[in-house]
Amino acid sequence: MAETGTLHDAFVDELRDTYDAERQLTKALAKMAKTATAPELQEAFQSHLEETQGQIQRLEQVFEALEEKVRGKHCDGIAGIIEEGKSIMEEDFDDATIDACLIAAGQRAEHYEMAAYGTLVAWARILGHDEAAELLQQTLDEEKAADEKLSGLAEGGINQSAADASQSEDESDDDGEDTDEEDEEEEETRPVGSGAKKSAPAKPKPATRRR
Ligand code: FE
Ligand code: ZN
Ligand code: FE
Repeated sequence: MAETGTLHDAFVDELRDTYDAERQLTKALAKMAKTATAPELQEAFQSHLEETQGQIQRLEQVFEALEEKVRGKHCDGIAGIIEEGKSIMEEDFDDATIDACLIAAGQRAEHYEMAAYGTLVAWARILGHDEAAELLQQTLDEEKAADEKLSGLAEGGINQSAADASQSEDESDDDGEDTDEEDEEEEETRPVGSGAKKSAPAKPKPATRRR
């Protein structure tokens, strides 16, 4: 590391890392949306993909505000998370389990981003880059909302469906789907940015309750 490096340099480095991470994620999210089987999960990935495109533009605005070149720098961290997610998709799981695994992978990515943007906001503030701080905070809020939405989907039925699928596999090895309805606990976390669609509380979930 250059001895003359300052926090400002580190800040710009982190921005470049994050810019690259977001671009890797647009590809990954498109794939996850295609792989997901529950419509509400497909929709969650799809709408976060659209949000992510806005986040990339927002980072470009940040570079401009700082009068820095818009440039990415390979993000190894998110590459590793995406790599792990890919190996899940190659496994031979039932649909509900694939969805549960996609959520797990997605949440790892969201938490990585939350960590990155949390730091970026704090550094932007301390360095007096108010406009940048504002923009980065908007993205941080979106990442948190995306994470919460995934938790809501997992806990609102997908995990249960995956657990049920593994049981019915034990019992009969038949792919029969349960169709009991259960209210979705889909709490819209917040109105997120630029035209991102909200997921309409979707189809009834297959979630069997024995009682
Ligand atoms: Fe993002
Ligand atoms: Zn990184
Ligand atoms: Fe994200």
